[in-house]
Formats: sequence, structure tokens, C-alpha cells
Amino acid sequence: MLDIASFNKALKIVWIKKCLDKEGHSKWKIFFDLKLQQKGGAEGAHIDWKEAYLLPFEITKSTKLIEFQFKLLHKRLSTNSYLYKIKIKNIESCTFCKTQKEDIIHLFWYCDRVASLWNRIEIMIKQQNIVSNNFNLDIVTALGLKKSISKGKFILSFCFLVARYYIWRCRVNETMPTFKTFLCQLERFYQLECCENTSLKKDFEIILPFLNQ
Ligand SMILES: [Zn+2]
Repeated sequence: MLDIASFNKALKIVWIKKCLDKEGHSKWKIFFDLKLQQKGGAEGAHIDWKEAYLLPFEITKSTKLIEFQFKLLHKRLSTNSYLYKIKIKNIESCTFCKTQKEDIIHLFWYCDRVASLWNRIEIMIKQQNIVSNNFNLDIVTALGLKKSISKGKFILSFCFLVARYYIWRCRVNETMPTFKTFLCQLERFYQLECCENTSLKKDFEIILPFLNQ
């Protein structure tokens, strides 16, 4: 039987070696900085890329989620913009809003349909007192490029990772992301996570009210 812990450990070593150059930067940095500059943002300037690449290993035991984040950080998710470029698709517009070009940053953050999901998640974590009322979810945290600095940071990073995975599954299945189905996904991953490691249950208690909506 496959030992998930050993597999994740091996993946982690290969991952860090492959992802970062000698200065500790990621190839993704160039793309990310460029896109943020185009949108007038400056959030990309303070990313600790090593921390960004290690984050999924800290917050989940799920190889599925770790592998997904690996692909996201390597821009290995085939968006319509990429599929159009390699002539597999005739259009590069977004699966959800159908109006903007579908690249990774649009799909996971700027798209109106996705923005409303993030907005609902932000409202919910404030209502549940997981974060304070002045918390503002930003693109860097939502994409998993830095840890959340609020009190429930471990769980928040987990929720945001599941949200990204859920958005991607909606993209693949060509369904619209909704808050209700996101909560179902979160519950599913919560159950899987806790059955892998029962000591995690206490850490996850903070999101239980979140799931019992
Ligand atoms: Zn869109």
C-alpha cells in the first residue's frame, strides 16, 4: 500500500528543488508580477516563494490537494487562454463569465463569478469570528502564495486551498461555482483530513460552525 506520508515527503523535496532558483524565486513570479502590474496591484512584491511552495504541505495531508496546488503554482492548469494558444480551443474567454480572457489569475480571483464566491467566504469567516471585521482577503492569500496572518491561519489556508480546488473542478466540469456546493466540498475534505489524522480534529473545530450552515 502506498505510504502517503513518505510520498508527500519525497514530493516536497523534489518540489522545492525544482521550483526555486538560486535566489529562492519561482518562475511563476514573473508571470504573477506582470499580471498584477497590469491590474495595478503591488501585492506580488512581498512573496516568500519558498514559504508559498511549502504551504500546502503544512495544511493538508491530501495528495490530491497538494498536487493541485503544485499545478497551479506551475501554471500547469490548462486554462482557455493556454488551450487557445496551442490551438485546442477556438476561444480564450472565461468558462464562467464568458467575457474576459481566462488565465489563471482571472479564473481564480478576478472573475466576477469567482469574486462573489470569495466574497461569501470572507463574510462567513467574519461572521464566525474566525477573522476580525477588518480582515481583507487579498489575491496573494487567496491564491495560496502566503499564509494568512489571522488567528485561524492554518484552517484559513486550508479553506482557501479547498476553495481554489473547488473553483478548478467547476471550471473542468463547466459548472458555476456556488457557495453552497463549496461548503459541501469543504466538509468532504474536512472529513478526509480528520480520518487521516484524528489529532487534526481539534484544529478543525474552528470551521465546524462554517460547515453547519
Ligand atoms: Zn471570468
